[in-house]
Amino acid sequence: MAQSSLPPDQGAHPPAVIADRYRRSLLKLLAAYAGQHAELDRRIRSLTSLARRSPEDDTLPGLFENAVEVLIAQGLTAPRSGSATARLADLLAQPTAEGPVSEHTRHLRNRLRDANSRDETDRALSEVAALINALTEKQPYRQPSANERLDTGLLDSLLDELRLGADAMGALNPMRERLQRSQSRPAQVDCARALGQAITGLLKTASETQQQASGDLGLARSQLQHLLDRLTLPQPFAADKTQLRQQLATAGNPEDIHLAVDNLVDLLDRARGNTRQEMEELSSFLKVVSRRIEEFKGQVSHSGEAHDAAIASASSLQREMADQVADVCEALTEGEDLDTVKPAVITQLKDLESSLEDFVRTEQSRHGSASAQMELVVARLRELEAETQRLRNDLEQQHVLTLLDPLTGALNRLGYTESMGREYARWRRYGGQLSLAMCDLDLFKRINDDYGHAAGDKVLTSVAGLLRQQIRNCDLLCRLGGEEFAVILPETALEGARIAAEKLRANVAASKFRFKNSPVPVTISIGVAEFHAGDTIEDVFERADRALYMAKHQGRNRCQSERDLRPEDPPRGPPAD
Ligand code: GH3
Ligand code: MG
Ligand code: MG
Repeated sequence: MAQSSLPPDQGAHPPAVIADRYRRSLLKLLAAYAGQHAELDRRIRSLTSLARRSPEDDTLPGLFENAVEVLIAQGLTAPRSGSATARLADLLAQPTAEGPVSEHTRHLRNRLRDANSRDETDRALSEVAALINALTEKQPYRQPSANERLDTGLLDSLLDELRLGADAMGALNPMRERLQRSQSRPAQVDCARALGQAITGLLKTASETQQQASGDLGLARSQLQHLLDRLTLPQPFAADKTQLRQQLATAGNPEDIHLAVDNLVDLLDRARGNTRQEMEELSSFLKVVSRRIEEFKGQVSHSGEAHDAAIASASSLQREMADQVADVCEALTEGEDLDTVKPAVITQLKDLESSLEDFVRTEQSRHGSASAQMELVVARLRELEAETQRLRNDLEQQHVLTLLDPLTGALNRLGYTESMGREYARWRRYGGQLSLAMCDLDLFKRINDDYGHAAGDKVLTSVAGLLRQQIRNCDLLCRLGGEEFAVILPETALEGARIAAEKLRANVAASKFRFKNSPVPVTISIGVAEFHAGDTIEDVFERADRALYMAKHQGRNRCQSERDLRPEDPPRGPPAD
């Protein structure tokens, strides 16, 4: 806009006249941007026509601000040499009213001229629009005096309300002090603007942190729930597990999560303590057994000693009798007459008799204590036998329990590994067929979410019952964890496995599950695979699992066989709901 086209200066003017002059200049300024942006063009047209038709119209100031906003938003005010903003600065250089208006105008002119960034130009331009509007509103114009103190009470109460915390306040305080110290109005505006941006930044970070925290909380809760679901504990701890699950479901803040983790650790400790107690019982029993065996060995060697003593005493009797018989024979051959021989023979025979009596007595007592000892040994052996039998039964029961899932009674993962290992070894040695069906409940997370975990558990038990009913006695039902089941099908080829799986699927789909009188829709998807020469257990597991996830991708509530797999089919990974 050439300076010659400006209205001639007419000295001091009332604010309304100056405003009108600025407004027209601003309109011309805006017109300089015509053709660069459709929206701006539309606004310039309506502004021009309204300013011409009714310059007093109340909507005019708003429209002005609007047009300037579009100008700023479109980035059209970037400083360019000889730009329209420089021409506006020239306009502001025209002498106007005396006093505060002219001072404010001078400041604005300087800022427009010196602006060397888009931001500075935008701010100055917004102030020009605001100045024009203030003048148009015909209110007495009042430029804040340079040394007027800014009332910061409002800001303080706002900051109180926001409760930003010590760190955030520490970061804001230097800015608040600078605001207090600023002497000029523009400096105060700049300080207040910086403070506003800092507060916005802090609030944004705080809300992001909060969002992050609540995201972390949800993640921690679901991970813990998952851990709990996968955890197999001995039967006496089932109630603690349910209670902990409920506690987790209602955990609303990090403290609740910490408490639940503490309780989980405590539960694991108790379960471990229980196992340790069982181990201690077993080890003390083994100590008893070894003590009994020692005793038994002692008694056996004792009876051996008695046996040796009996042999020794018999041979000494034999020696004694031989001596005495020899003495009698000697007395008989050497005796001169019967009267002298007789007493000697009688004495020898009496000695013989008493030796025999001694021998019989000793042997009787030895025999008595030996048979008493024998009875003791037999009694001890019987006890030992009974205790060993009891222990064997306990161990067998324990072993069976460690292979079973306490919730559904199906084999657990350990049971699966053991049974599958056995079936695999049998199949490799004797041939025949062996197949595996992998089953997964559909959208089970939703059942838990909609009806609660207790309902989820009930569904798991019922589905396990249904599956067990349908399979053959020699088939093995296993719960691999969560809501995943495997059925090992000995002597079954792929086609037979597919038919069996379809029967299982249809049976679950047809069952009318109810929880607290509400129907709960339950379906399962199944993938089947058969063992072929050279397969490892893992190969077949992987193929059955891929077939299962193919069934999920095809819409769930269906069976899929490994025969339909293609190399490009994705590995495990559920589809979106
Ligand atoms: P999809 O059809 O794709 O299988 O969907 P889904 O919801 O079943 O998905 P996913 O297999 O990922 O989710 C299994 C859920 O089952 C997660 C877990 O909360 C829940 N869950 C696992 N074990 C148990 C359990 O023992 N009891 C209960 N009530 N829920 C369990
Ligand atoms: Mg599932
Ligand atoms: Mg699953």
